[in-house]
Amino acid sequence: MSQEKIKKRFIAGAVCPRCGEMDKIVNYHDSDKNYRECVACGFKDEIRLQSSPQDLETRVNKTEEQKAAEVQVVKLMD
Ligand SMILES: [Zn+2]
Repeated sequence: MSQEKIKKRFIAGAVCPRCGEMDKIVNYHDSDKNYRECVACGFKDEIRLQSSPQDLETRVNKTEEQKAAEVQVVKLMD
């Protein structure tokens, strides 16, 4: 029912990783998630946006990267 209202946009030049067809990939939003789907073979994949502030996993990863960077700086200063 609600899926019929979802706007799907074709991604120009996108190649399906399953069937290899070009210009068959559509991009659309469902709830808070981003999906890409191949209209040729039915391939479907979730697109994770790294810039999403609500993604806790991304926050954790960034924190770990910052810690690693700080360690490197300390080693360089020594
Ligand atoms: Zn495909």
